[in-house]
Amino acid sequence: MAVGCVNRAAPFLLLRECSKLKHLLKCVTCGREFEPEPSLYTCPHCGDRFGTLEVLYDYDRAHFDSLSPHSELGIGQFLPLLPLEGLPELPFVVGNTPLIKLEKFERRYGLKAFYLKDDGRNPTASYKDRATYVVIGKAQEWGFKTIFAASTGNAATSLAGLTAAAGLKAVVFVPARIPEGKLAQLLVYGATVLIVDGSYDDAYDLAVEVGFKKGWYCRNTAINPYLLEGKKTGALELALQLNWDVPDVVFVPVGDGTVISGICKGFMELKKIRRIDTIPAVIGVQAEGSDIVKRVFEHYIATGEIVLMDREASTIADSISAGKPRDVVKAVRYVKETGGTFLSVSDEEIGTALVSLARETGVFVEPAAAASYAGFLKMAETGDLKNKRVAVFATGNGLKDVKTAQSFVGKALRVSNDPEEAFRLLDKMETV
Ligand SMILES: [Zn+2]
Repeated sequence: MAVGCVNRAAPFLLLRECSKLKHLLKCVTCGREFEPEPSLYTCPHCGDRFGTLEVLYDYDRAHFDSLSPHSELGIGQFLPLLPLEGLPELPFVVGNTPLIKLEKFERRYGLKAFYLKDDGRNPTASYKDRATYVVIGKAQEWGFKTIFAASTGNAATSLAGLTAAAGLKAVVFVPARIPEGKLAQLLVYGATVLIVDGSYDDAYDLAVEVGFKKGWYCRNTAINPYLLEGKKTGALELALQLNWDVPDVVFVPVGDGTVISGICKGFMELKKIRRIDTIPAVIGVQAEGSDIVKRVFEHYIATGEIVLMDREASTIADSISAGKPRDVVKAVRYVKETGGTFLSVSDEEIGTALVSLARETGVFVEPAAAASYAGFLKMAETGDLKNKRVAVFATGNGLKDVKTAQSFVGKALRVSNDPEEAFRLLDKMETV
C-alpha cells in the first residue's frame, strides 16, 4: 500500500497525484488520513466511536455529465461522488423515490413550500437501501461473498433483499423486539437471521465480535464509512428533484446518526461542487426515549465539547431506538454546520403523526418516519417555519410495523352478512 501518497495537509492535491485513488478516508476526531482498504473501518488511534471515518473526494474533479430525477441508474447516477469504481451489479433501481408537494400543509402552516420525500418506496421499503447499494458495490469490488450487519430491522432487511438480488449472502443480528413485518422480510429474502436476546446495542456488539472473526464484510452503521455515502444520496436526489433550489429546512429522523450525517454531507458536497449556493438547516428528530444525539448536541453547543452519554433506549419507533448512537460525532458536527438543531417527540406524538399523515396524504409510514413529521408539526406550531420551504424525509414504509400503527387507530366494524345490520351500523357511525 502506497502510504506515502497520503498527506494531511493537502489531500486533494495528492488524490490527483495518486490517480488510482478516487477518495481518501479521514478520521473525524484526529484528522489522520488513510487510503481505503478492505480491513480498514475506523481510525485505529481513536477507536470505534470517536474514530469514525469521513470519505473525501477531489471535489474539483467530481463532475456530473447529465442528471435526471428519472435516471435508469437511480442513485448510481451520482457515481462521481460515490466511493465506487463502477456501479454495483443489481437488477433494480435504488432511489428515484417520490417527492410529494403538499399544498394543504403550505396553506395551513404558512409555508412557502412543503415536500415529503417518500423513501418507503425503495426496493425493500426503506431509506437503508441507499446505504446497502454502496455496500454491495464495495463487497463486489473487494470480492466478499458474505456481508453481516446488526440492525434494528431496516438495515438488515435492506441487506437481506439486496444481497439476494446480487447473489451474495447476508448474516444479520437483530434485537428481540424486531417488528414482525421486518422479520418476515428477512426470512423471505433468505438471510441467516440471529435474533439476539437483548437490545439493538447488544446485537451490534455481538455482530462485530462474530462477523470480523469470520472475515465477512461489515454493514454496521458508522463502523463502515461507506454507508454514509449511500445515505447522502437522499440529499443529492432531493436537490436534483427541486432543480438545485434546495429547501430552507429539512427534517430527518435520528437514531444512530448516520442518515442525518449523510444528508448533511450530501448538501455540503453539493455546495463544494457549486451545484447549490446555500445549505438547508437540517433538523434531527429523535424519540424522547432515545434522545442521546440531541443531548450530546446540546452539550456540544453549550461547551464546544463532544461527550458521549449512553443510556438505555425505549421507544415505539424501533428504527431510531439507539442507546449508544454510533455516528454521534459526525451528526452533531454536521448539523451544527448546517445551522440546524435537534428536537425530540414523544411516542404519543409519533403515533398521532403517523395516523394523521396517512389520513391526509395517503402515505403510510413506519413510526421512525412519522417522528420526522411529528418534529415538523412541533416546530410549525411555534411559527418558526413561516414562509420557509420545508422538506420532511419519510424513511420507511408503514407495512413494516403494522402492530404499532394499529395501536393508534380504532377497530374495524364487525357485521354479520345482513344488509339491515350494515345500514344500522353505518347510520350509527354517521359516515354516509
Ligand atoms: Zn483518529
